[in-house]
Amino acid sequence: MVSKKRSCAFCGEQNNLTREHIFPNGVIRTYEEALLSLNDKSDRYFKADLVVKDVCESCNNGALSVIDGYFVKLFESHMHPPLLPGDSAEFEFNYNYLLRELLKISYNSARASADGFRAVAALRKYVPYILGNVSYTPDVILRLQIVTSSKRFNTHTNQIDGTMDAELLRSCKISYNGPQHSNFMIRLIALNSFWFYLIIPLKSVSSSKKETFINGFKDNIRLSGVPINSTMDFVSIPKEKTTYMHPGLLESMSRKHV
Ligand SMILES: [Zn+2]
Repeated sequence: MVSKKRSCAFCGEQNNLTREHIFPNGVIRTYEEALLSLNDKSDRYFKADLVVKDVCESCNNGALSVIDGYFVKLFESHMHPPLLPGDSAEFEFNYNYLLRELLKISYNSARASADGFRAVAALRKYVPYILGNVSYTPDVILRLQIVTSSKRFNTHTNQIDGTMDAELLRSCKISYNGPQHSNFMIRLIALNSFWFYLIIPLKSVSSSKKETFINGFKDNIRLSGVPINSTMDFVSIPKEKTTYMHPGLLESMSRKHV
């Protein structure tokens, strides 16, 4: 009997498969171990040290390490440490490198999740783009929400008694049931104050349906951020367009790590 060898989730070849973290190592090592692996039930923490074991050496050390390397520099220069209460943000980026990495993190976390089958199916079509093998920019809608740390107000003493740090690392789906929801999937990749929303069309939809969806989504979760598209390499986000850490915000994130 011939045993069936597993194929690489990216190139599809039956090469030597390796272990890969969902987030790049250069990002993970800036977090304390307790924050990464603690408490799967909490809304705040995510098992960011989860690994996938179906990526081949040549993908891992080739195309994927290029976008990881780019992203770690972006993380170090903009996303770490978290922004302070009242901060605005300026973000300089290469759109395609950024989107390729965000799609890769989403695809990896969906595969690492026991019930992420639907997300895996939707994200798999971006694999050639993630690997840098195609020149077109995909139909994903990207938005960035800045979430700063906040001052913690003690209602007993009427004084500020500390901060609630926007320190988190997370990749998950966002549940949403508004207009046109069946045509789209929403993924969140949150790194400290930088919360990236990927809105992924599940089939080809008209621009008016897209607009209906985005407007409903913005009103519903009040956390839609600013749009980032392929014509941009810089965005300036004033304080008025940021939000801050508060318990309700964390509850708004899905508990499911799909
Ligand atoms: Zn491969």
